[in-house]
Amino acid sequence: MRRDIAAACRRASRDPSAVTLVAITKTFAAELIEPVIAAGQRTFGENRVQEAKAKWPRLKQRDPDLELHLVGPLQSNKAKEAVALFDCIHTVDRPSLCAALAKEIAQQGRRPRLMVQVNTGAEPQKAGVLPEAVDDFVRRCRSDYGLAIEGLMCIPPLAAPPAPHFGLLAKIAARNGLALLSMGMSADFALAIEFGATHVRVGTAIFGARNKQG
Ligand SMILES: *Cc1c(COP(=O)(O)O)cnc(C)c1O
Repeated sequence: MRRDIAAACRRASRDPSAVTLVAITKTFAAELIEPVIAAGQRTFGENRVQEAKAKWPRLKQRDPDLELHLVGPLQSNKAKEAVALFDCIHTVDRPSLCAALAKEIAQQGRRPRLMVQVNTGAEPQKAGVLPEAVDDFVRRCRSDYGLAIEGLMCIPPLAAPPAPHFGLLAKIAARNGLALLSMGMSADFALAIEFGATHVRVGTAIFGARNKQG
């Protein structure tokens, strides 16, 4: 996997150290994650707070340098647990969540890095801020809630070619001065790297197919 990322970086004339592999472990038990930690992987991602809470405190205690990222939707009433457990949250997408996160960050003194999820395909069933609303939303995160947004994340529509979505996300990030771009999964991480991804979220290509719905 790391070799594939390095090759994609070479093709895109990018430094491989500028691309973080977030190994997505949703549905996989700790026993399956441990060998990947032993092999040196340090950054992991989950899409549900409850599942992450069941698996990760023990793993993080054993390896305090592990980083855990939340890549799935976050309900405001789970902000407390999320701020306590995650080192980076990719899915900030509405003012009520900003308020809940700001409160917990102040209370716990923990500062997970934050990204805004963008619904680049404007899909009605998908979470995320609409592309035309991102500039204003990022501004409000800072001004109304004191949240430092560092990047943007997207999940392109399943059936569509992802390139235009990666390009759009990169463009919105650039005009907002945001350094981090979370885009690209097992099927399209190399393409995402060409478009400037700093975080690729890869599950299946590392752990094999999931049998539960993730
Ligand atoms: C599951 C998931 C991934 C990983 O997808 P794969 O196709 O298994 O690599 C990436 N991002 C998010 C938000 C996910 O939920």
